[in-house]
This record gives sequence, C-alpha cells and structure tokens, in this order.
Amino acid sequence: MARSKTLEKPLRIRLRRDDLVEVIAGRDRGKRGRILKVDRRRGRVWVEGVMLVKKHVRRNPARGIKGGIVETEASIHVSNVMIVCPSCGPTRIGSKVEEVGGKTRRTRICRKCGGSLDKRA
Ligand SMILES: [Zn+2]
Repeated sequence: MARSKTLEKPLRIRLRRDDLVEVIAGRDRGKRGRILKVDRRRGRVWVEGVMLVKKHVRRNPARGIKGGIVETEASIHVSNVMIVCPSCGPTRIGSKVEEVGGKTRRTRICRKCGGSLDKRA
C-alpha cells in the first residue's frame, strides 16, 4: 500500500443522505442542515446551506445554464459534523442489532438516549 495522505484508511461513515447534522467545527460551526451527498471514499459530506461557496459558471445554453456566479455547497469532512438526535441534539451514533422475523436488522441509535436515528422503522 502506498503511503499517501489521500489514501487514508477508509473510515466507516455512518451518515446517510437526508440525515440532519450540525456542523461542529470551522466557519459554519453551529449550522444545521440535511446531508445532500456523501463521498465515502474521501470521507466528506455535502450539507444543505453549509460551506457555501461562490462558483463562477460558464454559460451553456445547450444545458440551460445561464452562467454567472452561483452559490453552491462545498464538501466538509465527516469529523466536522455530528448527527442531530430529535430529542437530545448533536450526538454520536451507536448501533443496535435486532432479529426481526429471522432477519438481522441494524439500526443506528443515539448514544445519549438510545432512540433510533433511522426514520424508516
Ligand atoms: Zn438522543
């Protein structure tokens, strides 16, 4: 294995699209938003309304793009966000394994209150 900063050992990201997270570090600390996209290889997430950057876009009439400056989200490292539990706020993720009708089901739970963090029950 090559020793490179870009080839860190893959960390298991337990966040998913549509999770509500709070930013805990950096310029947007304290902001909350939903996850738009997860890059598991690089350990980065895109959060709605967080890390907005202005991008200069070239006009592309074929794709209906007007061009100019647009605001868009930049990615943030997963270690800088925390999932938000509906009852306790930012928390760490635990997991629970259940046997349901012979099938094993893994649910993500809040480490503080033990409540489920997965919307689909
Ligand atoms: Zn909780």
